[in-house]
Amino acid sequence: MGDEKSSNSLPQQTPCLSYWQRTTRAFPHLFANQSTQVPPRVKYVVIGSGLSGALTTFELIEAGVKGEDVIILEAREAASGASSRNAGHVRPDAFRGFNAYSKVHGPEQALKIIANEKLVLEKVDEFVRKHNVQCDFNLTSTFDVCMTPEFAKYEAESFEAYKQAGGETSHIKYYEGEEAREKTRVHGAVAAYEWPAGSSHPAKLVQFLLQSVIERGVQLFTFCPGTAIRENESEPKLWDVHTPRGTITTEKIIHCTNAHAALLIPQLEAYVQPNRAQAHSLVPNSAFGAENVLQKTFSLRYSLYHFYSLIQRKGDGTLILGVSRSNPTLSPETLASRFSTDDSHYNQEIADDALNSFKKIFPDYASQETAHGEGLDHSWTGIIAMTPDSVPFVGAIESLPGQYICAGFNGHGMARIFTSAPGIAKLVLGHEWSTTGLPECFQFSRKRLSRLAEGGLPSIW
Ligand SMILES: Cc1cc2nc3c(=O)[nH]c(=O)nc-3n(C[C@H](O)[C@H](O)[C@H](O)COP(=O)(O)OP(=O)(O)OC[C@H]3O[C@@H](n4cnc5c(N)ncnc54)[C@H](O)[C@@H]3O)c2cc1C
Repeated sequence: MGDEKSSNSLPQQTPCLSYWQRTTRAFPHLFANQSTQVPPRVKYVVIGSGLSGALTTFELIEAGVKGEDVIILEAREAASGASSRNAGHVRPDAFRGFNAYSKVHGPEQALKIIANEKLVLEKVDEFVRKHNVQCDFNLTSTFDVCMTPEFAKYEAESFEAYKQAGGETSHIKYYEGEEAREKTRVHGAVAAYEWPAGSSHPAKLVQFLLQSVIERGVQLFTFCPGTAIRENESEPKLWDVHTPRGTITTEKIIHCTNAHAALLIPQLEAYVQPNRAQAHSLVPNSAFGAENVLQKTFSLRYSLYHFYSLIQRKGDGTLILGVSRSNPTLSPETLASRFSTDDSHYNQEIADDALNSFKKIFPDYASQETAHGEGLDHSWTGIIAMTPDSVPFVGAIESLPGQYICAGFNGHGMARIFTSAPGIAKLVLGHEWSTTGLPECFQFSRKRLSRLAEGGLPSIW
């Protein structure tokens, strides 16, 4: 259904599995209610079981909504979208995006966007500790490593502009030259910034949330896509959500469908663009084993569009290596193929580039023997949702009373959803936007769509 390049499509029916999914196949609710008919009526329908859908549901229940009043529809297995396919970074942008966000949203909003990401890290840390979530969350710090003088200049300008605008910088450290190389173990580092960040097993985090709400009465229907939404004929204030296993009449719908949002909200077709992203797991050789395990996470940056993200997991030592989607060193065919919702396979050219770049950046790795069982272990893809103004759509859809959206995280969901989902839950329960504490530019509104339709907004990433 729909166009593979557009967000008016359903998720692909034969997705590949990520490292995170391969290591959580025993999750008992993976195929929850996979052949059960949906109930004819329920108060709240959450569409999508990724981090936004799972956390929104969790927050509704925490706020007093009865579990039996909520169902979650999921097109594939539980949490099968980007949330279980990402690079595992919970990494706030500390200042880099400031200039770019300012151009689109103004400096005040740009400061708020960055402050919100810092807050998300604190919220994830607090949540994981409070609920004792076994998701391998590792609160540490991250290096933003500038691999070229040009990018070091770009970062320095962003940092200065952010600071001048009153942005908080006390948590950011700066190194250059030899010091940067020593701190980061990156031989070619020109400069590096360091600030607090974390990593997580993202699938385990979402599965904890799903498990928790299911225990409290919520029903999850996997392999059960919402295929259409229509006004209920006899009670026009209610909505009918159509699925292959029946129709559900409901008061409130929360769209947490990420890169597939426009299938059920056609007005979003021009504003949510699916992009395929790729990540890789590597079993370290001795250069990254035991006492040589990386203690910090990394963004290794040649330019704004050419970078690699890297974490090393504490438990099994697996390295997770992500690649920027617009990497200009890739062939035009590979670059063009990223505009897709097809997460059934990975791209060999990207995998080769990731591994070769990793070896170049960390010659220690390349200098060691790689035994059978070490080295590149797995490659996978996932679909991220880009918006023209680089921030998510969160809020009520005015033209569809009773419907809400929390989607379009621009590849930064782990650094945005832990405030956006609690925000949408508040709005669903009738609270004002101001209670969400979110940057105003996140708010979904007809006005924002018209502004985007007028064009003229530079694409940031
Ligand atoms: C390779 C890769 C690396 C990434 N790395 C990072 C990172 O390191 N840090 C970071 O912050 N972010 C990263 N991201 C982005 C991050 O994963 C996303 O922003 C985040 O997971 C979005 O969560 P979500 O719940 O909105 O969407 P998803 O997790 O995609 O959930 C949406 C769900 O909705 C379901 N669905 C869609 N349409 C329907 C329908 N009609 N009916 C029923 N169900 C439907 C889908 O199957 C899916 O399960 C990465 C993404 C990828 C792909």
